Amino acid sequence: MKIFKKYTDLIMNGKVGFVPTMGALHNGHLALIDAARKQCDTVVASIFVNPAQFGKNEDLDKYPGTLEKDLELLKKYGCDIVYTPTKSDMYSESFATSIHISGVTEVLCGAVRARHFDGVALVLTKLFNQVRPDTVFMGEKDWQQCIVIQRLIADLNFNIQMQTIPIVREVDGLAFSSRNQYLSSQERQIAPELHKAIRAVAAGQITLCQAIHHLVEKGFDSVDYIEILDENTLSSNSTALNQRVFVAARLGNTRLIDNIRLQGAS
Ligand code: AMP
Repeated sequence: MKIFKKYTDLIMNGKVGFVPTMGALHNGHLALIDAARKQCDTVVASIFVNPAQFGKNEDLDKYPGTLEKDLELLKKYGCDIVYTPTKSDMYSESFATSIHISGVTEVLCGAVRARHFDGVALVLTKLFNQVRPDTVFMGEKDWQQCIVIQRLIADLNFNIQMQTIPIVREVDGLAFSSRNQYLSSQERQIAPELHKAIRAVAAGQITLCQAIHHLVEKGFDSVDYIEILDENTLSSNSTALNQRVFVAARLGNTRLIDNIRLQGAS
């Protein structure tokens, strides 16, 4: 496995699969590497905590960094190239470009985290230009992110396929996330209630209002949103087909997100 800090050094053969990450790798990331390994000749992962996608009062400064362990895992899972750019290489002092995607960024996480998806779109545009992958592998845990990046790929004519993988969960249902490391042991006990609540909504057992009450009763501090939207357009005026339940909620200082397909959706 080769580790590169400069994109000009990247040497790739055949079909290139790309897994962009912010590090602190877990089973969700590794499932993406696994999928890329099965489908591509060269697997490239990037580790870059992108300042452009964090808001002023968010967790950029304390975002977990476990580079040595990440590199070991990537090697074990057959990754060929790890790209670890520095912040100053990605954003020089004179950097002056921004990207804004409208529509699909204006709901759910985009409504709560101003300009978050502009930052994601910006870094992925740079990474796509640097790595030049054939396929990008992304996780359905960040469903809205996948929709936003599909829009970016189509609108800016990137010649890149997107392949998504289902959410990888702990045995108790909590979706793997680098941010789960922030949870205290007590919060970790409460966290799986997020998945339980949306599963019950998806099965038609409880309403969205009841899900909010359930989460607060179980110990969540607040619910940023819980909504049923069309999974392709993220609009609320959809038929019963293609609907998904989306949630973001805060547990202590940790913000957790999750989503699940509505039962009965085709
Ligand atoms: P991050 O390092 O959080 O930016 O995530 C990098 C990639 O891993 C994104 O495409 C995420 O959607 C994906 N990912 C994160 N957690 C999971 C999970 N539990 N299951 C599947 N994919 C995930």
